[in-house]
Amino acid sequence: MARASSKRRFSDVPAVARALQPSYPVYCLRPEVLAETARRFISIFPGTVLYAVKCNPHPMVLDVLYRAGIRHFDTASLPEIAQICETYSDAHAYFMHPVKGRAVIKSAYAVYGIRHFVVDHESELAKVVDETGGEDLVIVVRMRTPTSLQTLYDLSSKFGATPPDAAALMRAAHERGCKVGLAFHVGSQCSDPSSYGTALTLAGETIEMAGVEPACLDVGGGFPAAYTGKSVPPLEDYMSEIRIGLKRLALRPTVDVFAEPGRAIVADSCSLLTQVQLRKDNRLYINDGIYGSLSEMVQVDIRLQARLIRLAGDVSETMYPFVLNGPTCDSVDVLPGTFDLPADVREGDWIEIDQVGAYSNALATRFNGFFPETFVEVHDEPPAAAAA
Ligand SMILES: *Cc1c(COP(=O)(O)O)cnc(C)c1O
Repeated sequence: MARASSKRRFSDVPAVARALQPSYPVYCLRPEVLAETARRFISIFPGTVLYAVKCNPHPMVLDVLYRAGIRHFDTASLPEIAQICETYSDAHAYFMHPVKGRAVIKSAYAVYGIRHFVVDHESELAKVVDETGGEDLVIVVRMRTPTSLQTLYDLSSKFGATPPDAAALMRAAHERGCKVGLAFHVGSQCSDPSSYGTALTLAGETIEMAGVEPACLDVGGGFPAAYTGKSVPPLEDYMSEIRIGLKRLALRPTVDVFAEPGRAIVADSCSLLTQVQLRKDNRLYINDGIYGSLSEMVQVDIRLQARLIRLAGDVSETMYPFVLNGPTCDSVDVLPGTFDLPADVREGDWIEIDQVGAYSNALATRFNGFFPETFVEVHDEPPAAAAA
């Protein structure tokens, strides 16, 4: 495999195919798109934007976000904290995982200066206070949100205290001399802005029950990307729901308001250049699949646009639905649904798959020795997602 090229910047995706002739999958990152999306989010969110590192932790992605003005990061492990704090000296990391090892808590606090820790149980609160001495902590209590909210992933079945338990935790943290905060996460790819209003109302009730003035309120991530065939409301609708919800709570102006977007910031900024290794009728065998960059297509119902890239010769104008098979030996490694591609697609052609910036490289495994890891920069405009 020819990975020797050091060239990382290309004018468009065909230029990537021409230069690298890649038989391995290549992530094509659009830095301008990523920076613009981040700047837009920062400008319309009424508070501080923490980028959720787990969604796409690639150094090229983080660098673009940093240059776009992101200085705050939602981190969930010591390696994520180290990556942020050792790369950007003026960045702030927040430890947003409700379950942490003792040594990890200690290192985050003492080595990296982390002061914000999420908890959703009294035993975790005791651990954090024990391991840090409890000095100048902001204990952020993760509150459970109703599972009825419209999202692709339910993130409340595993983490989060019920409002009464969250209130008790806030009080307990306050009594131990900590500042306190409240956080929730409505679930990823949330299609209904009112979920944030509902969660904010619950947060208000929880804060009232606790009787403790919060230092911060964190509305989490979950903001959707506009995937093919799924119409989602514009980000502005989520922001106005959040503004109205915050106004209802009538918090002191000193309360820090946080959001932790991942997907909405990065999804559209990357496409994936794959290659056809074999065609059997309407089945194409490509070099990436559900154990690599595309596991989300199986775990949750998202559809992605694909287009053919052939460097020489004509391309059929007739489109045909193809099934895309992944490269591993596992027979479940097949992408759901079909992809419309020119009828004469053949071995050696490339297929560019859109909107793979979120939860792609971050979830890829090394199963069967396949591991997508090549990133290049592309300075064109990606095609907009097809409407529903
Ligand atoms: C995963 C996660 C996020 C990011 O969620 P998106 O749906 O990608 O915006 C934010 N906060 C927490 C606590 C998470 O677990």
